[in-house]
This record gives sequence, structure tokens and C-alpha cells, in this order.
Amino acid sequence: MEEKEIVSRHFIEQIIDKDLEEGTYTTVTTRFPPEPNGYLHIGHAKSILLNSGLAKKYGGKFNLRFDDTNPMKEKSEFVKSITDDIVWLGAEFEDRLFFASDYFEQMYEAAIKLINKGKAYVCDLTAEQIKEYRGTLTEPGKESPYRNRSIEENLDLFEQMKSGKLADGEKVLRAKIDMSSPNINLRDPIIYRVAHATHHNTGDKWCIYPMYDYAHPIEDAIEGITHSICTLEFEDHRPLYDWVLRELEYVNPPKQIEFAKLYLKNVITGKRYIKRLVEDGIVDGWDDPRLVTIAALRRRGFTPESLKLLMELTGVSKAHSTIEYPMLEYCIREDLKLKKSRMMAVLDPIKLVITNYPEGQIEYFDVQNNQENEELGSRQVPFSRELYIDREDFMEVPEKKYFRLFPGNEVRLMHAYFVKCESFDKDEDGNITTIYCTYDPATKSGSGFTERKVKGTIHWVSAPTAIKAQVRLYENIVDEEKGAYNDKGELNLNPNSLQVLNECYLEPALKAANPGDSFQFLRQGFFCVDIKDSNLDKLVFNRIVSLKSSYKPDSIR
Ligand code: ATP
Ligand code: MG
Repeated sequence: MEEKEIVSRHFIEQIIDKDLEEGTYTTVTTRFPPEPNGYLHIGHAKSILLNSGLAKKYGGKFNLRFDDTNPMKEKSEFVKSITDDIVWLGAEFEDRLFFASDYFEQMYEAAIKLINKGKAYVCDLTAEQIKEYRGTLTEPGKESPYRNRSIEENLDLFEQMKSGKLADGEKVLRAKIDMSSPNINLRDPIIYRVAHATHHNTGDKWCIYPMYDYAHPIEDAIEGITHSICTLEFEDHRPLYDWVLRELEYVNPPKQIEFAKLYLKNVITGKRYIKRLVEDGIVDGWDDPRLVTIAALRRRGFTPESLKLLMELTGVSKAHSTIEYPMLEYCIREDLKLKKSRMMAVLDPIKLVITNYPEGQIEYFDVQNNQENEELGSRQVPFSRELYIDREDFMEVPEKKYFRLFPGNEVRLMHAYFVKCESFDKDEDGNITTIYCTYDPATKSGSGFTERKVKGTIHWVSAPTAIKAQVRLYENIVDEEKGAYNDKGELNLNPNSLQVLNECYLEPALKAANPGDSFQFLRQGFFCVDIKDSNLDKLVFNRIVSLKSSYKPDSIR
């Protein structure tokens, strides 16, 4: 029997299918419109992957457009970081990079058109008065005394606003819609304001700037966007979006569609919180691996594929939902488990000496890089009389069900031999310093030895050829038990969010690791070479994620 492909389409795809079927649009053009006022975070990744993914699926186009209409908060630095992030995510905008500020002239002309149609007026009320006149959710607003100025007067006053004669806030241009509308957004919203500010793109050319709700539909229309996808908080703004397009008489105007944001539990995405963490020196920048900016996720070792998987698992809908961080961890493990070599690394070393192994001898084991993926090939791992093992793989007095190394017990050294613990040294403080073992040459890995079995297998690194590295282990930056925020709205910080291990030993094959490369360290997790702090003299690894997981994908939906 032929297998039937089950195609389930989310609500936005269903809208697009219908639009194409009915001929409302013949192609699909989407966009991602960031404001260059900060770094992108994992929530933005959802929007980027959704928009670029739809364009790809329908053979359409995807635009990256900087929504740089507010000169106060925007910086070129952010244009660069945002572009880098989007390229890294694999959202293909090719040469379709646009700036809303390139359309200032058209937006200005559109305002003139509205004034000429009697649909916009210059208002002298102060910001406070405008707020007062606006009314509330239950009470209608009051009309401005300036609402019925003549077209000529409005044109003249708008020209004064533009020419720089007025101070910031002295006058504004408002759309003339309906002060008694149940939707407050339609109560004569401000569409232009005076702001004597230097813009990162247009410099001092303009001293009037368009407001977001007015500018956005115009930007979309100019670029021929068909489906203008945004998050739910813009739902109430849609009537204004449509009003602007209608009054400006655009043919085949874009359609705004809202979806629910991606929220991760106990994860900080708010710009002002991250800014504070950076300024207070709690993190080492916007790309600190404990954050979930895209730059931070990349530095930590997350991949675009893992983020795509997260977006697929979380779906697209209009219903708010919060997902747990372990789901993100599941996605990165899934992506890396077959792609990365499995190496040996000792993070908390103790020396282990094999007393019956010849001094000075080095033996090499041929080890497969990934037992589940032969394509990754194999490598030579040196073995010698002196090794390092992890401190937690030895107990002087074993607890129940402890099968690793303790006096008198035999374990398997992964890929090598069985060793039996004969004795150990302790320093004055009671810390174990050296473990002495004997090995059995007959137990060599791959030799087919079956005469006896051991219950524990531990990893190790040969001491003379080991390379030293720094390894950073991370936990959530906020306290998960207390919750991210306290009563005052401040962050509950986790004091253990960063643990730096300065004396870790790795097998020598890792010497060739380049910044950004990642590996599995057997029994410990996935690790990525830090792109900022690692160099040839000092290797630095970030733990991306441990191997243990409590999360199962079908437990969430
Ligand atoms: P934030 O307020 O979280 O800092 P923002 O909305 O100010 O972000 P913009 O640059 O205006 O940042 O956002 C660009 C686009 O990203 C918008 O279309 C917005 O709807 C979308 N977006 C922002 N946060 C999320 C999120 N958590 N999930 C999905 N999309 C998001
Ligand atoms: Mg915004």
C-alpha cells in the first residue's frame, strides 16, 4: 500500500493557501522587520524562521527590513549584529535588505496625501492633553480643538514641522479617524512627530519622524509584502494598519496576520534586563553563553538546526503557551548526537598510575569518533602508565550501587583495558591525590575477552600527552526554584550560573579544535570551543548541554 503523506498546515499556511487559490495574491512575500535597538533573541528566531520558511515553502521572497523609524534608540552596531544573526540562522534574504528610513520621502508624501484628503491634521495639544482627550476603554475620547483646521492650514503647519521651525513635541500630525471608536488605536493616532535627532541612516535630513503604526503598513506596501506576520500584541492595531493602506489607496495591499510569541519559562529575553546584566558586569556581554540572545546561543554552541527543530515542535498558533528550557536542550542534543565526535575529557582530574604498565611506553588505540555514525571516521588515542580520570569516578568508601573505581574493584577504561584499584594516596586535607591500579593485558578492548565482566566503565586521558583546557559549565542565570523575578520585578539571580574549571585534561586530538567547533565529551555532555576567549595557547570550552535529560518530546503536546 502506498504510504500517505500526512500534511498538517498551521493557520498561517491555511490563510496563504486560500489567498493563492482565490487569487488574492499570486506570490508570497514576507519580511522580518527588526528595530535596530538591541540584539535578537530566541523569540525573534521564531519570527525569522517562520517568515523565511514560508517564503521558501511557497517559492516566494523574504525581505530583511530594518524598521529604523525611531532615531532615539537605534544604532548601526545593532544593524550589524542582527544581520549576522539572520545569516547564521540561514534565513535567506539575499540582496533583499531594506531600511524603513529609505522610504521617509514616500512616507512624507503619503502624509501630504492624507492631509489633502482631509484625513490628517496638525494638532497643538500637548502629549498630556492628547492622552487626556483620548478617553479610556470604557469612555469615548474627545475631539481635539484643532481637528477641523483647513487643508491649507494643515499643509502649512506640517511644512513648518518639517522645516525645523518647531521644537520637539510642539505640534504633531494626527490621522483623522474616529475619537469615539471602541478601538483606542483609531482615536486619531499620532502619525508624525517633531524630533530634532540625528538618524543613523539619514543623519540630520529629517526632523519629523513617522510613528510605527503609520510607517509599518507603508513599508510593507512599498515592498510588495503579501503576508505581514507579527505577534499578537498588534492585533488591536490591525484596523489602523488597514486604514492607512486603504486611505493611501494601495492596490493589492498586504494582509497583517498575528501569531503568539514564543515564551520560554525562566528565560530572560527582555532587553532592559539583559542590558542591566551587561552593565552590572554579571554577564560578559550580550553574547554571554548564559543568555538566549541569538549571539549567545551561537557562542554557547547551539545550531540553527536545533532552533529550527524547537520552532517545529512548538508550532505556530494564536494561543499563548510557555515552553520549558529542557525542550531547547532536547533539540540541541538531537541535532548534535550523530554529528559530533565523542571524545574523552577529564574535567576534575585525579592521577591514576598503572603500576604494572611499562614506564615510558605509549600505545595507541584506534577509536571510532561516533559509534552511531561511521562516517565520522576514527582517531588514535594514546594510552600510557599515567592517566587522569574524573574525581567522581573514584570513591574511597563506595556507596550502594557504586560500580566505578574503589579499592579492590575492577572497571573498564573505555576503549582500553580493565584496571583494578590497589591503593591510593591522600594529602593532609584528606583529598585523594593519586590512585594506583594494575591492568590485565588480556582485557584489551576489541580482543574478544569474555572471561569476566565488570560493571563500571570510566573515561580517562593519558597524562603525558593530555592538553590542558578551561571548561565552563553553565546553569540558568536565574534561580529556577524562586522563579525569574522577585516582588519588585528584579531578577532572582542564580549564584552558580557559571562554574569555571581551569584544570581540565583533554585527549590530544582536541588540540586541533577551532573556535566554534563542538564535540561530545563522553559521559559529560556537548561542548563548544568558545569563539571569543579560546586561542592556541589557551583552549576554552563551553558546555552546551549535559547528556542527561528529563524531557521527552511527546510529553508536551
Ligand atoms: P522585545 O520587546 O522582546 O525586545 P521587540 O518586539 O521590541 O522585542 P522588534 O525588533 O520590534 O523587537 O521585533 C521584530 C519582530 O520580532 C516583530 O515582528 C516581533 O513581533 C517579533 N518578535 C519579538 N519577540 C518575539 C517572540 N518572543 N516570539 C516571536 N516573535 C517575536
Ligand atoms: Mg518592538
